[in-house]
Amino acid sequence: RSKIIVEKPIVEIGGDEMSKVIFDKVKKKLIIPFVNLERDYYDCSLKNRNRTENEIVSGAIEAVKRYSAGVKCPTITPNEKMIKDYNLKQIIFPSPNVMIRSALDGTQLREPIICKGVSKFVPKWSRPIIMCRHTFGDQYGGKDIMLNEPGTVSLLYTTDSGQFYKYDFDIRSKGVAMLTYNTEDSIKSFAESCFKVALERGYPLYFTSKFTHLKKYDQMFVNVFQELYNTKYKTLFEKAKLKYEHRLVDEMAAYAIKSTGGFVWALKSYDGDVLSDIIGQGFGSMGMMTNTFLSHDGKTVLTEPAHGTITRHYKRYQKGKATSTNPLSTIFAWTRCLRHRAQLDSNYELLQFTNTIEKCTKETVEEGHLTRDLALCTYGHNFQDNICISTDNIINIIADKLDVQFEKLFN
Ligand code: NAD
Repeated sequence: RSKIIVEKPIVEIGGDEMSKVIFDKVKKKLIIPFVNLERDYYDCSLKNRNRTENEIVSGAIEAVKRYSAGVKCPTITPNEKMIKDYNLKQIIFPSPNVMIRSALDGTQLREPIICKGVSKFVPKWSRPIIMCRHTFGDQYGGKDIMLNEPGTVSLLYTTDSGQFYKYDFDIRSKGVAMLTYNTEDSIKSFAESCFKVALERGYPLYFTSKFTHLKKYDQMFVNVFQELYNTKYKTLFEKAKLKYEHRLVDEMAAYAIKSTGGFVWALKSYDGDVLSDIIGQGFGSMGMMTNTFLSHDGKTVLTEPAHGTITRHYKRYQKGKATSTNPLSTIFAWTRCLRHRAQLDSNYELLQFTNTIEKCTKETVEEGHLTRDLALCTYGHNFQDNICISTDNIINIIADKLDVQFEKLFN
C-alpha cells in the first residue's frame, strides 16, 4: 500500500491514563498505517513533567508554534494528594493546558459530533452548538489570596505616566480576594475568531456576558464585539443571512436548553469552561465533542479530546478488564490536527483522508456500535452491559472500514 505523504511534521503531545491508551491505539490503527507522517513527540505525562520539572511542556509549546499543527492527549492535573501517590518532587504547576493557553493566546472551539440514532440528554438539539471560549486572562490569569485577618485590600492602578486609580476594600473578617484582568487586544482577536467561525460554519453568533454587573469589565467585551461587527462583519453577515447578537449569559443558557441548536456561542473564559462541559454532556457524552484550540492569528491549531484522562476507566483497564470508553473525541482530535496540516500545505489527499476517517467513524456508531456512555443516553439505565462495544472493538471496526475505503480512494 502507498501511504499519503505529509511533507511537514505535526507535534504530538503524549498524556496520561485511559486517554493515553486510546490516543495511542487510534494512532496505531487509524493514522500510522495510512499516512507517512513525521511526529515531533513530547511526552507530557505526569511522570515526565515531574522528571523534567515541566520543561517538557515549554518544549512542546515552542514546537507547536514552530510547526503550527499539534495534537495533544489529555494530561493529569495533579492536586496536593497526588504528590505522595505519584512520588512527585513537588506540585507541578501550572498544568500543561494553562501553559499552552496563555502561550498561544487564542480561542477554544468545541463542537458536538452528531450521529444519527444516538439519543442526546437534550433530545431537541438536532443541530450543533459551537462553543467559542476566550482563553486569555480573567480568573485563569488572575491572582487570588487568602485574607487571614482584618485589613484592607487595595485595587491600585499605576500608569506609565504616573497617574493611578485606587480603590480600598475594608475587610473585617477572614476571607479571600482576587484580581483579574484582560486586554483589549486579546478581546479583539477573540472577537475576530468568533465572527470568522460563525461565517465559516454558517450559523448565527451570540456573545454572552454579565455586563449588567461588571459594568466596565464585561462592557469592554460587549463594545469590542459590537464595534467589530459594525465596522467589518455586518455586511458579510447580512449577505450570509446570519445575525450577531449580544445576550446575557444566564438568558442564553436558558435559551440554549429550549433551542434546537444551530448557533455559535462566544463565551468569556470562565463561562466557557463551565458551560462547554454542560453542553457537551447535553449532546450525549464528552466523548462526542471535538476540542480545537485556534491561535488568534489563525495560523496555529492544537487539538485535543474534550474529556480528561478518564481515571475510573483506567483503573478497570489496569486490572485487565475490558473498557467501553468512547474514542470519538480522540479520533476527531487526530483528524482535525491533520486537516489543519492539510490546509496549511494545500495537501488535498490528506484532507480527503481526514474526511474519510470521520465518515467511517460516524457510520460505525450509526450502525449501532455504542460504547457505554452512548448506550446510557440512548436506553437510559435499562440496558444489559453486553450490548456495549469495547474500546478495542469499536476502533477495530472503524479501522476495517477505513482499510476498504482507503483502497478505493487512494490506491
Ligand atoms: P474525565 O473527563 O477524565 O472523566 C469524567 C467522567 O466522564 C468519566 O468518569 C466518565 O464517566 C466520563 N467520560 C469522559 N470521557 C469519556 C469517554 N471518552 N467515554 C466514556 N465516558 C467518558 O474527567 P475527570 O475525572 O474530572 O478528570 C480525570 C483527570 O483528567 C484529572 O487528573 C484531570 O485533571 C484531568 N483532565 C485533563 C484535561 C486535559 O488535559 N485536557 C481535561 C480535563 C481533566
